Amino acid sequence: MKVGGQEVGISGLPDVIEKGLQHIDDSDDKQKEVLLAEFKARNYVPDSVQGEYMRAVWAEYKKFRQHRREEREESYMGIPREEIPWFPKVDPSKCSGCTSCVEFCAQGVFFFAEGKSHVVRPLNCIVSRSSCRSFCPEQAISFPSAAELRESLKKFREKYSVRE
Ligand code: SF4
Repeated sequence: MKVGGQEVGISGLPDVIEKGLQHIDDSDDKQKEVLLAEFKARNYVPDSVQGEYMRAVWAEYKKFRQHRREEREESYMGIPREEIPWFPKVDPSKCSGCTSCVEFCAQGVFFFAEGKSHVVRPLNCIVSRSSCRSFCPEQAISFPSAAELRESLKKFREKYSVRE
């Protein structure tokens, strides 16, 4: 890995990255915090160069994170993602165009146009997650119920012979 233009040896980088990926759904700040703690647990890093090391680790980490996200988007627990009807719907008659959901969703599910939020990448939505709904001041965002999701997953587990 290159740090400040120099090739440097890093101990345990794959483990550091894997620990970070366990927080893939948390904020970038949280992921950076985990990476730094895990990195420092395996490597001596003088404070004076900590920033440079972390920039290099973060850049490397983001490549793996992108790959992990792409893998996750394609399937969920062995079921093709496109089969699972889990994504938000926006009621345009209620949406006031505050953009909270667009700003909140790091998955790029929403797109803001003509004064309203639109769901443009439904399959990017993380199955079973629905935090964006609580950010909407107009209760314009809806999801299937937990029972409906359970029922869908049960059906697809049978179809794809996936064990629970
Ligand atoms: S949070 Fe609700 S009101 Fe605001 S843009 Fe999204 S759907 Fe519309």
